[in-house]
Amino acid sequence: MTAETTDVETIEIAQGVHIPQIGLGVFQVPADEAQRVVEDGLSAGYRHVDTAAAYVNEAGVGAALRASGLNRDDVFLTSKLRNGDQGYEQTRRAYADSVERLGIESLDLYLIHWPYPSAGLFEESWRALQDLAAEGAVRAVGVSNFLPEHLEAITKHGGIRPAVNQIELHPTFQQPAVASASRALGVAVQAYSPLGQGADFSAKPVLEAATAHGASPAQVILAWHLALGHIVIPKSSRPDRLAENLASAGLRLTQAEIDAITALDSNERIGGDPATFSLTQMR
Ligand code: NAD
Repeated sequence: MTAETTDVETIEIAQGVHIPQIGLGVFQVPADEAQRVVEDGLSAGYRHVDTAAAYVNEAGVGAALRASGLNRDDVFLTSKLRNGDQGYEQTRRAYADSVERLGIESLDLYLIHWPYPSAGLFEESWRALQDLAAEGAVRAVGVSNFLPEHLEAITKHGGIRPAVNQIELHPTFQQPAVASASRALGVAVQAYSPLGQGADFSAKPVLEAATAHGASPAQVILAWHLALGHIVIPKSSRPDRLAENLASAGLRLTQAEIDAITALDSNERIGGDPATFSLTQMR
């Protein structure tokens, strides 16, 4: 496959809120590189960027949007509440701070980054997000790294439901129980570290499908996600890979290829365990 821009589907995650199924993740993109990387991404055709207060690069993301000349409405922007800002009032302040750093009026999607259960604050943080959404201060709200028990705790009282649950999900770590618990509540599954940070590139079914389609392993893995309805946010700082990853939207795998990649799940996590992850410097 050539690395050309292909039309990316959108998914409705809340009433009238459509998210492009492929976005650009900017975790670990340094503050002084974020503007260049996001400008390259927008030039390549990305219309969805995933940042977080904890990534300390929101200002660069906002600068890239302004430099691109695109309209604010053309680009779907997500940011996240850091652990150290949980709590009702702190959450509301943190949202305002993120919006200010980005230099925009409001976000399209704001997520609780981790449940951080040992702090005991995620339910009141969620209430703050629901209020921000009800007030029209943010278009959609959701969560990240929420296990079924955390989802149950924030949905049992009703009200606005999380639009997405952003979880670690790639061929060798698929979390089927978390994904199905999310879907059962009407919560879209957003896959972070969708490429397994490269760890899944050498798996046999990935390489076989890559050869069969003249595609790269990264494109095969992303096409597998898209076929399963996941929203994906692969990260790259390289213009050639940015374009390559976006072009996965044009790749259709066979059912046999999809099934063979699904069979790779070995339950090996790369990132933190949401039950215990409590770094407040992942703030
Ligand atoms: P990823 O699976 O997207 O892998 C990124 C790495 O894969 C890159 O650094 C690069 O080395 C390699 N890569 C990317 N495209 C490639 C290509 N075409 N060919 C070869 N190698 C390629 O991992 P990630 O960065 O951990 O996750 C992506 C995004 O998910 C992050 O940037 C962030 O936005 C989000 N995320 C969220 C959380 C959370 O707690 N919510 C945690 C981790 C990541």
